Amino acid sequence: MSDAFLVLKSGSCAWGRCLFCGYGRIQGELLSLEGFREKLDGFFKSLDSRVDHVKVYGSGSFLDEKQVSGDLRAYFIERCLAEGVKKVTVESRPEFISREKIREFRGLELEVATGLEIACDEILDRISKGFHLSDFEKAVSILHEEQALVRTYLLVNLPFVKNLKESLEESVNYALKYSDSIVLINLLPHGHTPLFRMWLSGVWRFLSREEFHNLAGRYESHPKIELDVETFRFVPLFPRELRENLSGVGERYLTHPHFEVWQDYILRWYRPPSGKKTLLFLPCSYTKPYSRSRTHRGIINVLIDYKGIHEVMLSNAGVVPREFEDYYPFNSYDWDESKETGEIKERYIGVTKERIIRYLQTHGGHYRRVLCFLGYESESFKALREACNGLGMECKNLLSREREGKRVLQSGEALEDLRYGVENEAGKV
Ligand code: SF4
Repeated sequence: MSDAFLVLKSGSCAWGRCLFCGYGRIQGELLSLEGFREKLDGFFKSLDSRVDHVKVYGSGSFLDEKQVSGDLRAYFIERCLAEGVKKVTVESRPEFISREKIREFRGLELEVATGLEIACDEILDRISKGFHLSDFEKAVSILHEEQALVRTYLLVNLPFVKNLKESLEESVNYALKYSDSIVLINLLPHGHTPLFRMWLSGVWRFLSREEFHNLAGRYESHPKIELDVETFRFVPLFPRELRENLSGVGERYLTHPHFEVWQDYILRWYRPPSGKKTLLFLPCSYTKPYSRSRTHRGIINVLIDYKGIHEVMLSNAGVVPREFEDYYPFNSYDWDESKETGEIKERYIGVTKERIIRYLQTHGGHYRRVLCFLGYESESFKALREACNGLGMECKNLLSREREGKRVLQSGEALEDLRYGVENEAGKV
């Protein structure tokens, strides 16, 4: 059976309060019948071949009259039947599931997906789900009596759960009694949610892919269960209201939680680009994003022909792969070196060294060689040297030993060193 996905944005979720959900908080424009027709006709036109199963995804409930009116639903059903579609999947909260609406889908196999999340009323209250197991069960009775299928989403790793393994087992056993299929979803933090703030404050953390598989992997071969390790492209996106002024020198600007959660992400979720096998550590810059600074423009100009080099900056904000330089907080902090004391320099070296060690322990296997282009007197170079010595790793500095002075990396000689170095080192890859 061939499947097609229709992403439908119309209005907003009537509830919008689930602790972990960013989609439900989006205030979308309501689709008119005309707009919906255009969208649906465009959707069917874009398909290369006839499709058997249409899955509709959007935030909220397809069966909520206020999001998708009866007219829109009727048009959807009519078009699906006309296109020879056999099965449709729509999402809905239990309170919008009624016999009348389900009967409208006659002629199509209907599957209704519901985010139950967990089979525990107490946790459902704590995550502000807004319904209980009894509501879910009532909706399931209607669906099954009307010959519709029930698809249930469960979230693995919700906060407030004491024993994740036991809770997952209980939820799966419960859901299997009521559902025709189940999806186990790895809970990842959306920016505009209380869950994201829980991650920032350290009271909850996401599961890495490996941790998720360790917990949920045993259900992988179950005929009714699917695993979804990444429901959206996960990057920490800080909403505007959470952003802080991170310009300053001192402990706060070295181990700020906003830097720490990014380091957590870079270690436990991020994967370096597959084609880039030479790691090149670089300094940060006052101008943000780094690539707009004079130093980085010079470096980028030299590296332009070397596609296999992965540029990673060392700064008080952490170890920062080039891909993230324009994300908050990496695009909006400042550390004024003229305000550094001997003590904070030592602390910088200590913290940065630990971050580099963790980065290399996690991602070192990805790279074939590790290089740097850093001033020999810089704290970043000292931290890198200590980290590599500790790990017994080689890390060649492409800057010639004799180069020194302020803004040394901007000079023509230094950039020639870089050019020569990458040709001889990275060029070998
Ligand atoms: S999880 Fe579903 S019900 Fe909850 S806010 Fe998000 S869209 Fe709405």
